[in-house]
Amino acid sequence: MDKFDFKKKFGQNFLTDKNLLTQIVEKSGVMSDDVVVEIGAGRGALTEVLSAYAKKVYSFEIDKELFAFLGEKFDGTNVQMIFEDVMKVTDEEINKLVGGKFKLVANLPYYVTSPILTRFLQNENMVSCTVMVQEEVADRIVAEPKTKDYGVLTVICQMFGDAKKAIRVNRKMFYPVPNVDSAVVRIDKKEDCVAQNFPAFIEFVKKAFSMRRKKLSSNLETQKLKKTEIEKLLVENGFSEMARAEELSISDFKKFFALLNDKM
Ligand code: SAM
Repeated sequence: MDKFDFKKKFGQNFLTDKNLLTQIVEKSGVMSDDVVVEIGAGRGALTEVLSAYAKKVYSFEIDKELFAFLGEKFDGTNVQMIFEDVMKVTDEEINKLVGGKFKLVANLPYYVTSPILTRFLQNENMVSCTVMVQEEVADRIVAEPKTKDYGVLTVICQMFGDAKKAIRVNRKMFYPVPNVDSAVVRIDKKEDCVAQNFPAFIEFVKKAFSMRRKKLSSNLETQKLKKTEIEKLLVENGFSEMARAEELSISDFKKFFALLNDKM
C-alpha cells in the first residue's frame, strides 16, 4: 500500500507487531469453529491473524481509502469485508449477515468505544468480546465497587460477563503513536446476564449513576415511584436507605433492577 493518509477522526492507530497481534488473538480464545466480528480492519493486520485462527471473519471498515487495498488483500479468503460505518448498520443486519453466535475481536477506534461496547453487549448473538481500548477505559471496565473508576460502563460490562484485563499495551506499539497507553480487555458472557432485558437495565444503571454523589433513591425517583418508596425497598432488601450507586455490587444491581423494574 502506498502513502496512507492517517485519519485522526477515525481513530486510526494501527498495529504491526506480529507477536502482539498473535497474543491478542490467543487471548480472545478464538478457535477454528468460531465466527468473528471485527470493527475497524485498518490495513488488515489483526484481520489477517484472525483469519488464520477463525472459521470466518466479518470485518467492518469505514475509511474509503482502505477499501481497494482490503478488498484485494482478502479476496478469496475466509474474511468478508463490510465497507460501512458499523454504527449505521442495524443489529438485525449484522445478525442476518453473521447468521449466529460470534466473538467480537477488535482494536477499537477510541472515539466510539463506549457506544460500540454498549451496543454489542446487547446483541444476543455475541458470546465474548476481546477489545483494545484506552487503558483508562479498561480500568473502568474491570473496576471494583466504591472506587472512582466504578460507573455505568463497569456495571453494564460486568453484568454482561466476566471482564479481565488481558494485555497492557504501550502506546509505542501503535502507529501513529497515540497520547495514552492501551489495554486489551476480554469479557465472556455469563449465563445469568440480564440479556433479555439489557436495554432497560442499561437505562436503569445510567439513571442510578446520573448524579454520582447523590443517593440512589434521588437518582431513581420518578413520577410513578416516590423517593420514600425506593428507600423502603432498599431497606427491606438489606441495603442502606442512603445507598449510592457506586456502593452496589453487580449482583446488587441485578437484584435491585429486578425489584424496581416493574415499578418504574
Ligand atoms: N485493526 C487495525 C489495527 O489493529 O491495526 C486498525 C485499528 S484502528 C485503532 C481503528 C480502525 O477502525 C480504523 O481503521 C478506522 O478507520 C476504523 N473505524 C473507525 N470508525 C469506524 C466505524 N464507525 N465503523 C467501521 N470502522 C471504523
